[in-house]
Amino acid sequence: MLATRELLSNTDDRVVLIEPDEPGGGLAYGAARPWHLLNSRAGAMSADSRDPGHFARWAGCSPDEFRPRVDYGRYLRDVLSDISGPRLTIRRSRAAGLSATGVVLADGAEVKAERVVVATGSPAPAQPAARPDHPDYVADPWAKGALEAIPSDVPVLLVGAGLTAIDVALTLTEGDRDAPITAVSRRGQLPLTHTEVAAPPVGPALDDCATLRDVVRAVRAEAARAGDWRAVVDGLRPYLDQLWTAFTPAEQDAFLRHLARPWECHRHRMAPSVGARVATLREEGRLEVRAGGVRSMTAPPAGGLLVELEAGVQWFGAVVNCAGPGRLPAAAGSFVGGLLAAGQARVGPHGLGLDIDASGRLIAADGRVQEDRWLIGPLRRGALWETTAVPEIRAQAHNLAIPV
Ligand SMILES: Cc1cc2nc3c(=O)[nH]c(=O)nc-3n(C[C@H](O)[C@H](O)[C@H](O)COP(=O)(O)OP(=O)(O)OC[C@H]3O[C@@H](n4cnc5c(N)ncnc54)[C@H](O)[C@@H]3O)c2cc1C
Repeated sequence: MLATRELLSNTDDRVVLIEPDEPGGGLAYGAARPWHLLNSRAGAMSADSRDPGHFARWAGCSPDEFRPRVDYGRYLRDVLSDISGPRLTIRRSRAAGLSATGVVLADGAEVKAERVVVATGSPAPAQPAARPDHPDYVADPWAKGALEAIPSDVPVLLVGAGLTAIDVALTLTEGDRDAPITAVSRRGQLPLTHTEVAAPPVGPALDDCATLRDVVRAVRAEAARAGDWRAVVDGLRPYLDQLWTAFTPAEQDAFLRHLARPWECHRHRMAPSVGARVATLREEGRLEVRAGGVRSMTAPPAGGLLVELEAGVQWFGAVVNCAGPGRLPAAAGSFVGGLLAAGQARVGPHGLGLDIDASGRLIAADGRVQEDRWLIGPLRRGALWETTAVPEIRAQAHNLAIPV
């Protein structure tokens, strides 16, 4: 959507948007319920790269507010209707693959295009090794009706303790649930919480940093000086891609093993009211967060799942997978999997996304840059680090239309 907007606003191109669902209905905003808030302030969520206040004005709120995600889906649909005109065609279909002259749709039709932008969102969720094929195991919490099917009187295990687990816990406790929810993750660390009013970002001094270790030291020192670590985390954000690409592969590996999760907890934070609700759920004993992994899951004849956790074997009426996106190629899905199988793309660093050149063009299996095939969004992860949130995607979309 953001790329469509940028291309129509800044070029004379005709654009075909291929989208099987209602536009604006992607994972983050389409599957949201009214109690799911954006984890960014309204001031960060404008669809217009030249007008940061666009979303806050549309929503009639302060730029500091955290609006419901369903509102953001509506906003994206309004943006689409504003840019609709003779240069935009919407094809309500699924892309099945790329041809030499455009995109092949699921029904076999071809959309001819000189340039193609792949913007299909995140890889499929990672699955625990002990994943059972069982009706009480919810592999994808975003699947329609998946959470509503869980009875309110059975204990539920969430595998993962990030923002997805928070979303799931909020949904499960909206009704009259009295049975407890347990979330497990390797570190047992929940996302941290935003303050009501944002502290101005503070950019840490990175000039003398040559290694990952130097960067960590500089960030910790600056956080201690700044008083509120959030200011430093937010100040670091514009430099992250530069830092990530300057790290050696071994440093990137070390970051992924030891620092990625703590970084995510500090960087992708809960809205204050969500943080307060989660704290209440924990105080009331309705949500428990534990460190450790899931060793095995077995299905007893009476239903539910017996799960072997660090503390022993426990019965849950349902187990919900709340892990983040999986690694490629396993988590590729049919379209991206097809690109990989056809050699039109290759897996990028660490399997986090697809490989791209510095301007965001896909790199084929033979190492050649695909001149007119671009990638934006979460699938750039690995080549970049911060590439899943609206501000970064908006900048990528802008650079497609007006290359830097
Ligand atoms: C639960 C959740 C909450 C989030 N909250 C925030 C937030 O508060 N602030 C923030 O900045 N970011 C947030 N994000 C990050 C979010 O990923 C991005 O903001 C954004 O949604 C990513 O946009 P996208 O268009 O790349 O992917 P998506 O929004 O996932 O959209 C991908 C689209 O591609 C379509 N598609 C997929 N395959 C095909 C195909 N083969 N053919 C045609 N169409 C296809 C899908 O139907 C979908 O509409 C959140 C993410 C999640 C998962």
